[in-house]
Amino acid sequence: MPIYQQFIKHILNPLDLWRSGDYAEIRYFKEFERTQFLSPDELQELAWARLRRILDRAYRHIPYYKESFDRAGIVPSDIKTDTDMLSVPLLDKRDLQEHFDQLFDPQWSKDDLILDKTGGSTGTPVNYYYSHDRKWSRQAAALRHDCWTGYDVGYRRAALWGAARDMPPLGWKQKLKGMIFPKELMLNAAGMTPENMLQFNEQLKRWRPLIILAYASAAAVFAMFLKQNGIVPYQPKAIITSAEVLMPEYRKVINEVFEAPVFNRFGTREFSVIASECDHHKGMHIMTEGLYVEILKDGRHAEPDEIGEVVVTDLLNDPMPLIRYRLKDTTSRIAGTCSCGRHLPRIADVAGRVTDFLVGMDGRFCVGPSLALPIVGQRPSLGQVQILQEEYGKLLYRIGGGKNRTLNQDDIDFIRQQTEAYLGKGMQIDFEYVDSIPHEASGKYIFSRSKIAQEMFQ
Ligand SMILES: [Zn+2]
Repeated sequence: MPIYQQFIKHILNPLDLWRSGDYAEIRYFKEFERTQFLSPDELQELAWARLRRILDRAYRHIPYYKESFDRAGIVPSDIKTDTDMLSVPLLDKRDLQEHFDQLFDPQWSKDDLILDKTGGSTGTPVNYYYSHDRKWSRQAAALRHDCWTGYDVGYRRAALWGAARDMPPLGWKQKLKGMIFPKELMLNAAGMTPENMLQFNEQLKRWRPLIILAYASAAAVFAMFLKQNGIVPYQPKAIITSAEVLMPEYRKVINEVFEAPVFNRFGTREFSVIASECDHHKGMHIMTEGLYVEILKDGRHAEPDEIGEVVVTDLLNDPMPLIRYRLKDTTSRIAGTCSCGRHLPRIADVAGRVTDFLVGMDGRFCVGPSLALPIVGQRPSLGQVQILQEEYGKLLYRIGGGKNRTLNQDDIDFIRQQTEAYLGKGMQIDFEYVDSIPHEASGKYIFSRSKIAQEMFQ
């Protein structure tokens, strides 16, 4: 590691964390660096001690859980095995919206907590609180997973990201700090026009980040653009994709164009990093020390390789622990241990958000974003495209660029042909022209949304 990076890592960064009262992040980081190599039994013991503790606290202090446990006829001491967890009631976004105040431990003062909200990619945004201690463990977990890519504190990073609130306007203090701590170059994933993408590449070449953190679809569209236009791309050491489904096609084109390994990551606003890929690239390791993750299929735990819905319990957020929270994302467990030596259990790349799935003519499911590259990636001149499915057998393509815009016959034929290849023949396709397709509050771009799929998973 170059001397300046070492200086940042060992002196400036700890001093800065100590000054801001966030030094505990380093304590958590050291802990997670160690616990990732515990044996499977030791890890299980650690996670279960935390799970029992959080269930017990929730039952004693949080009105909502007291009531829901009582209604289910259980007490925390009944929960001794993974199968026992199935009797704990599930929690979904609507519960969080409707019972916000009952889901909170009244012993805590809200002034001492951090209020955040989800981006609302599957509906209305929801609020939730977490403690400063949870902030430190979340940041330490994210850092541990960043380090799996070869990154370390003190190196430069870039983010092809869209969440406006993650990019606060800089005051002079932050600007000065940014000069001493080269942290992140932010590239706005909400503005992926050809001109902007050209500029992103130039900015990256000047900034020379070691890693790029990116929305999966944004990285794929960027890679495809550089490839099609014969532009020499900036080559980072690694690309971390997150926040959206990483389609195998996305991984391939990102890998090929940037000549850098892709590390997929699964995280949400509510839990931060849930699982992350290591340098052996055989699935994503779960953040077991802080989260209890279940994959459900028909009310039971899914078998390895069997796709099911992800349900998460936060083990470290005392004031407002989310217990068996339904994320509406789907994936599968991977059996066995990873050759990297970490015993954190693994899951496969997230197969899709239930609302992303489009339903084909023969009832087949197609992950909506898998149509992004064959359509927008192949023909960037289409601009903003979004696919909505309200009824079986019908698709509505919303096209940005103004209400007076109409696609030419060649573009329409192209879209029909690509759609049929993925969803079967006979689908009715309609077009609607709009000024622009807004990104979600989180900055994520929703490429497809299906009401039918959503209803099927309810
Ligand atoms: Zn591994």
